[in-house]
Amino acid sequence: MTAAGQGIVPLNLVFLGPPGAGKGTQARRFAVCRGIGHISTGDILREARTAGTPLGREAHGFMVRGELVPDVVMCPLVAERLKAPDCAKGFILDGFPRTVPQGTALEESLSARGARLVACVYFDMAVDVAVRRLAGRLTCACGRMYNLDTAPPSKAGACDACGGALFQREDDRPEAIRRRLVVYEANTRALVEFYRGRNQLVRIDAGAEMSAVSEALERALPRP
Ligand code: AMP
Repeated sequence: MTAAGQGIVPLNLVFLGPPGAGKGTQARRFAVCRGIGHISTGDILREARTAGTPLGREAHGFMVRGELVPDVVMCPLVAERLKAPDCAKGFILDGFPRTVPQGTALEESLSARGARLVACVYFDMAVDVAVRRLAGRLTCACGRMYNLDTAPPSKAGACDACGGALFQREDDRPEAIRRRLVVYEANTRALVEFYRGRNQLVRIDAGAEMSAVSEALERALPRP
C-alpha cells in the first residue's frame, strides 16, 4: 500500500534555486532523513551521457552549452520516474521544473494520479554569489561535491569519501556558468510566481551557512 493509501500525505517537494545554491546537497540529506525519493534531473542526464544511451546523446549538446534540454524529453522522463517505489512516501525534485510549462506538466501528471505538491522550496541566492560558488566547485564520480572556498576536500584533488579524483564539471566552466545563469534568470521569476500564486512557495536564504539552511528547511517543511 502506498503512503497515500494509509492516509499519510506524501511529502512531494520541488527544490528551486540557481545552480550553486546548494540545493543538491540539501536535497540528498533531507531525502535520506525523511525516507523520500531524491530525483536530480541533472544527475539522470549525466548518467545517461556516461552510459551513452539515446537520452544521453540527445541531451549532450544542450548540456555542454548550458542550455535546457527540451520539455518533450524532460516532462515524460520525470512523470515516469515519479512512479518508482522510492517516491511512495514523497519526493524531492531537484532541477525540475525549470520553466512554467514544466511546472504545469508536473502539476498535471501528479493530479492525474490524485497527488499534489506540498511545497516548492526556493533557495534564494544572489546570482553573483552563485557564480563564485560554481567556479570553485569540484565533483567526484561518486556524487560527492566540494567547494574550494567553502567545503574543500581534506586532501587536494581527492574525494574524502572514496578517494576518487575530483574534477570540474564541463558546465561549471566560466562560459557555461554564465549561460546557465542567464537561462535560470530568464525562467525562474515566472516559476517563483507560479508557485507563489498556488500558495506553495517556501523561501529559504541559501546564502546562509549549510547547517543553518538545513535547520531552516526542517522548520519550514511539515514533520512526519
Ligand atoms: P543541473 O545539474 O541541475 O544544473 O543540470 C545540468 C544540465 O542538465 C542543465 O544545464 C540542463 O542542460 C540539463 N537539465 C537538467 N534539468 C533540466 C530540466 N528540468 N529541463 C531542461 N534541462 C535540464
